[in-house]
Amino acid sequence: GKMKVGDIAIEMGIKATQLIKALMTNGVMGNVNSDLDFDTIALIVPEFGWEAQNTFKTADEIVVETAFGNLEAELVIRPPVVTVMGHVDHGKTSLLDAIRNARVASGEAGGITQHIGAYSVTTEDGSLITFLDTPGHEAFTAMRARGANATDIAIIVVAADDGMMPQTAEAISHAKAAGVPIIVAVNKMDKPGANPDRIKQQLTELEIVPEEWGGSTIFCEVSALKRTGIPELLENIKLLAEVAELKANPEKSGSGLVIEAKLEKGKGPVATILVKDGHVNVGDYIVAGSMKGKVKSLTNDKGERVDTVTPGLPVEVLGLEGVPAAGDRFDVVVDERTAEEVVGVRKEQAMAENTQKKMSLEDMFSKVTQGDLKEFNIILKADVHGSLEAIQGMLNKMTSVEVKNKIVHAAVGGVTENDVMLAHTSKGVVIGFNVRPDNNAQAKAKQLGVDIRTYSIVYEMMDEIKKAMTGLLAPQV
Ligand code: GDP
Repeated sequence: GKMKVGDIAIEMGIKATQLIKALMTNGVMGNVNSDLDFDTIALIVPEFGWEAQNTFKTADEIVVETAFGNLEAELVIRPPVVTVMGHVDHGKTSLLDAIRNARVASGEAGGITQHIGAYSVTTEDGSLITFLDTPGHEAFTAMRARGANATDIAIIVVAADDGMMPQTAEAISHAKAAGVPIIVAVNKMDKPGANPDRIKQQLTELEIVPEEWGGSTIFCEVSALKRTGIPELLENIKLLAEVAELKANPEKSGSGLVIEAKLEKGKGPVATILVKDGHVNVGDYIVAGSMKGKVKSLTNDKGERVDTVTPGLPVEVLGLEGVPAAGDRFDVVVDERTAEEVVGVRKEQAMAENTQKKMSLEDMFSKVTQGDLKEFNIILKADVHGSLEAIQGMLNKMTSVEVKNKIVHAAVGGVTENDVMLAHTSKGVVIGFNVRPDNNAQAKAKQLGVDIRTYSIVYEMMDEIKKAMTGLLAPQV
């Protein structure tokens, strides 16, 4: 991300001496050959009517370079990847177990499941559905924060006897922010106090409206404990996946993401990967995150050794030289030299990302002024319900010609790590009214460069947001 003074001057069509002078006025000493970092360049070029943009090779560009095989092959439907989310104790883990066991019950070969972080089941008509084994929106958003959207469909579990809870709403916000379609599983239908209609009513407030009420969300009534309603749930997932037309080319080199990875005694690095496109073979050269390796073995979720794995399926890989992180993307590459090259670029990217500018309220303003920001993403937290609703109302009204306010998530309570993650992935800011971030949230915000603004006076808050939206806010020093 560095550039020489001379090159920048040529780029802007000015004399190098003019630039050197401007730098000196800003306290930077240099000559024609001095290297300037991005922050300095960004600071100085507006004086000459230019704007600096930090661009890097994206991970996608690398794939374009590394993919091989039959790139023109006909696309085929791949299994959908499903994440289960919802409030604690509403039955996420039980539901995942029930689905997994439905496979055993149906007498499918290799019924004993290996816990590798994801598993797939066969529906009645023979199509496959893959489930991520780590329930909850924390894992979901942590992966998204690394740039990977593992999930095609989100199941929101709500206990029929308990109804909508804070984490239900949070999970829905996370799924919506990711643009992932939602199916609601109303669980614990076996309980005496089960009241699915109340849940439908409650979720309507979050614009999750059941199909039978004219909306577009499928609600499935299940009991993870009694194992009822599971085939219907799977059937509905399949239908939603068909609408989404998830396609992949199984004839090209594989790519996808790492679901989990660890170092195992006697085995070395063990990673579970989810193939989103292409295929992976034993013997392939592979790069996962910034770790490379040659695939020694592939083991599926039934504990069987396989030679190849196709799109939409998880598999455990041995042969990587190091342990990648969950959410890292992986690519099969043509040879070892390419693997090394990709590792080099990935490492550079990681460094660049660390120094990249954060999305603060000021950045939003400057983007507004430049006209590149159309939506102003806000995660709103407040101390009581009354003020939350009042502020939401005001924010919704405060939409300028250029920019639309978008409340990604609004809830009562302190600012948590999850709020920060959500702000990070939706490139927004966290706004707290009469609440403060806890220690974890503060640490996460610092690490990710997320802006948390807290206010105790409505007028001040609205004033700052309004200024932000019109591009007038002075940077916070
Ligand atoms: P999670 O925190 O969302 O993963 O919830 P769990 O799957 O751990 O379930 C929480 C509790 O609810 C456990 O005691 C389960 O046995 C119970 N539970 C889960 N599903 C059902 C169900 O369908 N009916 C009944 N009666 N209890 C359930």
